[in-house]
Amino acid sequence: MHETLSDWLWQVDVQGNYISVGSKVKESLGYESEELLGKPPFAFMPPEEAVRVSGIFGSLVESRQPIHAIENINIHKDGRLITLLTTGVPIYDDNGAFAGYSGLDRDITEERMMARDLERLDNENRELSSRMKAAVDSAGIGIWEYDIAGSLLVWDDWMYRLYGIEPDRFSGAYEAWVNGLHPDDMERAAREADEAMTGGKPFDTEFRVVHPSGDVHHIKASAVVLYDEAGTPLKMIGTNYDITKRRHLEDELAAKAAQLHALYEGIPDAIVVADVETKRIVHCNHAAEEMTGVGVADLKLRTIHSLHPADVLDETLQGFERQSRGVQRVVESEVITAAGSRIPVSITASGVLFGDRPCLMGVFRDITESKEAEQAIRLANQQLQASEQQLMAANQQLQASEQQLMAANQQLQASEQQLMAANQQLQASEQQLMATNQQLMAKHGVQGLLANISAYLMTPVGEVLDESIEHVLGLVGSFTKADRCYIFQFTDDGMMVSNTYEWCAAGVAAKKHGLQQLAVDEFPWWMERIKRHEPIFIPNVSALPVEAKLEKEYLEHQDIRSLVAVPVSTAGFSGGFLGLDRVNSSVLNIHEDHIPLLQLASDIIFGSLNREKSAQQIREREAKYRAIFESIQDVYAEVNLATGTIEEISPSISSFGYTRDEILHRQSLDYYVNPEERDCLISALVDRGSLRDFEAHFLTKSGESITVSLAISLIKGVPDGLMKIVGTMRDISERKKHECQIQENIRLKNDFISSVSHELRTPLFSILGFSSTLLKESGSLDPATRLEFTSIIHDESVRLSSLIEDILTISRIDSGKAKYSRQIFDPVKPVSAVVAILRRQAEEKGIELVEEKPDREHRVVFDQDSFKQVMMNLLGNALKFTPKGGRVKVSISGAEEMVSITVDDTGIGIAASDHEKIFDRFYRSVPSALQIEGTGLGLAIVKDIFEMQGGSIGVQSELDRGSQFTVLLKRAEDAADEDVVQSPVTE
Ligand code: ADP
Repeated sequence: MHETLSDWLWQVDVQGNYISVGSKVKESLGYESEELLGKPPFAFMPPEEAVRVSGIFGSLVESRQPIHAIENINIHKDGRLITLLTTGVPIYDDNGAFAGYSGLDRDITEERMMARDLERLDNENRELSSRMKAAVDSAGIGIWEYDIAGSLLVWDDWMYRLYGIEPDRFSGAYEAWVNGLHPDDMERAAREADEAMTGGKPFDTEFRVVHPSGDVHHIKASAVVLYDEAGTPLKMIGTNYDITKRRHLEDELAAKAAQLHALYEGIPDAIVVADVETKRIVHCNHAAEEMTGVGVADLKLRTIHSLHPADVLDETLQGFERQSRGVQRVVESEVITAAGSRIPVSITASGVLFGDRPCLMGVFRDITESKEAEQAIRLANQQLQASEQQLMAANQQLQASEQQLMAANQQLQASEQQLMAANQQLQASEQQLMATNQQLMAKHGVQGLLANISAYLMTPVGEVLDESIEHVLGLVGSFTKADRCYIFQFTDDGMMVSNTYEWCAAGVAAKKHGLQQLAVDEFPWWMERIKRHEPIFIPNVSALPVEAKLEKEYLEHQDIRSLVAVPVSTAGFSGGFLGLDRVNSSVLNIHEDHIPLLQLASDIIFGSLNREKSAQQIREREAKYRAIFESIQDVYAEVNLATGTIEEISPSISSFGYTRDEILHRQSLDYYVNPEERDCLISALVDRGSLRDFEAHFLTKSGESITVSLAISLIKGVPDGLMKIVGTMRDISERKKHECQIQENIRLKNDFISSVSHELRTPLFSILGFSSTLLKESGSLDPATRLEFTSIIHDESVRLSSLIEDILTISRIDSGKAKYSRQIFDPVKPVSAVVAILRRQAEEKGIELVEEKPDREHRVVFDQDSFKQVMMNLLGNALKFTPKGGRVKVSISGAEEMVSITVDDTGIGIAASDHEKIFDRFYRSVPSALQIEGTGLGLAIVKDIFEMQGGSIGVQSELDRGSQFTVLLKRAEDAADEDVVQSPVTE
């Protein structure tokens, strides 16, 4: 015996101690030979193993028998466990006496480890097999085998069930299969099966089968062809399974996406989605193209800001900011078109997650028509304002004229003519299926693996699909005893390739991370083959031809010794390839016969990936439209034209108080309050096909009628083809309120102009009349009459002056020119002064005017002149609205912090509903029959005065029961102030 490789020779004495040890012992146990001498082999074993082995050796030694390949475990000097195979024979000395044993130990550690690995794989396989049987049975996978030469098709039980037929009614002939197919798929499926048999192209397809009951089922089928030595196809083995449910789900999802898309394209509002960060437009509908006159592709190169004319951009952005805080519902702005014209729009904006990016979505409604109407109103309003200003200007001139009159009673005629001239203004179901049918696995490893792969990749989607693919790679890798089994996928443009899935055998390092985004042109030899759909089989990397120099270097650099790569055969270049490689050994366990199987595995895997990709695209598309649908602020709805029922509505209907479920399937017209509007809506829609900014009144859940603007159109529904009304509804109650206010203002101003003109004209005519008489007939009038005339002229001039004063005060307040100082005074004095002025008027009207003075002095802080103006108005009104014989009383009293001045009358009173309105400008609640003059400005001025200086005014009154106005002023003691002026009363 001699030492080879890891074998070492030894000899032990009668006691079993080493007396000679070969030097190779160092390679397996790490000790020098000398270190073993004098010690027994058991000294180098773990204690339990030492007991076991010494038992065996002991009984052999006793009967002097040879030791036949006894396996034993030893401890290496560095602590590792080493398996040795010990063989030995007894030796005798020259006298024939037993002298010990001599033998050879072989290190079999590595072989044992491999055997254990194999055993483990075997166990795993057995485990997979039994799970597979259960899974295959429950998953409904049918397995078939077609003997090509004998034209005999053999089906398992599930195949019969998948085709809905009884085994005894099946002829077993190939034609019987074809006859079970849907007529539209028959020709294609048969052709694909033929191609698989003749062209060596794997069979991986989908078709429909028609059960005898007439039910149609979608079937996924794949198969592999096995050949004899000469390359003649022998048989085809394949699987079938029912994917009807999945197909229906996919169809449904696709239909939903198409429906949402139609809805989105169908409404006349322009919808624009932009990235929050970059503001770039990422999506828009056809209406956006129409509105801007810019094509979708070009719009996507622009930012949302570029949609607005530069001069309104800031204001628009501020509007969006207010809208985002919920302060404002709709932003009005303009859109600039490609042709440079400007379109007025109302916009609602909201946040939306669009393909995982936070985006802003704006819904733009063209409001040209209502803007034109509003513009007309505005213009009328401006004209009115202009006339009003002219009137004011004329009034100022009049005042000047009045002063001249007082001086000389002249030039009246000219002023009057000037005045007159001025009087004219919007898993999938998932199943995780498992491995091989035990009998098939035992009988046909290939069929088993095939069924296994099909079972795993039948239905899963998303992450489950990733896991399933990795598992399938494991099955293929284990089956072929490869170290690594992986998938590479090309980018859509075919320029890059990445390792997307990988399985590694135990102890083999993963490489996926380092193999991402590799440029295709770095591997020209390799890619050339992949492009031609040719399998690449490299039994020995070191023997690669010179053309593959780059590839060789790359593979060697990664320690890869042999490999197989199988490109996808059906899809375009953008697919990828399935690969296997071996790192440690130069021999890959794969046989060339396995390549069709790998081809099939590759096709099935890429088939699943492509299906997943298109399903993912559908899901993304659906999710995008759904995101739009759910985030839109306007209410998005779909109504069946024939039945009038609401078939779809966005969750934003909650802003009208309803939940979606409350509205769905109800009659849409029930929610429109006004019957004429409803008729008009339907007939206009049928006439024109679409309506923009159509105003209607919508009933909210709380019963309120709200003005809404509708943008709707008639479209053909997907997938049912029924006519539908789709569109959006926008709450424009704010805009409407604003329009009403403008109209109300116009009405008030019209009233104002006529009453001011009237008020101005009355005193003016009387001044004119008396002054003319004085001028013409001064000689013939007695002094008493002249005095009377002059005093009438004087009184009327005072009236005129006070009216003009009111108008000017209002205009001063509005323009911010009114100045008030803070003065401290006793209110008794100014009140008495006003009472004195009005005393004569009260007497003339037969009204008792009472002034109740307080018993102590009160001091208030206020602008004294404006306080007099307040008292003049309140007492003036009390006298004006109290009939003859009535009583007007003014009283002052002090509470803790405030001093109150009350004006009481026994006059006509004010209806409770008017208590607030009488403080509005130009508002008068006097019945016109009473012919009480006035402008409706007095109390408005009073209110403005209190708003600017603090303090308050309140009213208590009932019709025909008199009125009580109470003014509250701050006490001087409480007004901690530096800028207060002590002032005497100006009378
Ligand atoms: P004007 O007196 O010029 O009409 P005001 O603004 O002073 O305007 O008053 C507004 C309206 O309030 C009056 O037109 C009248 O209807 C009502 N009003 C004010 N004071 C009284 C009062 N003391 N008694 C009854 N009605 C009053």
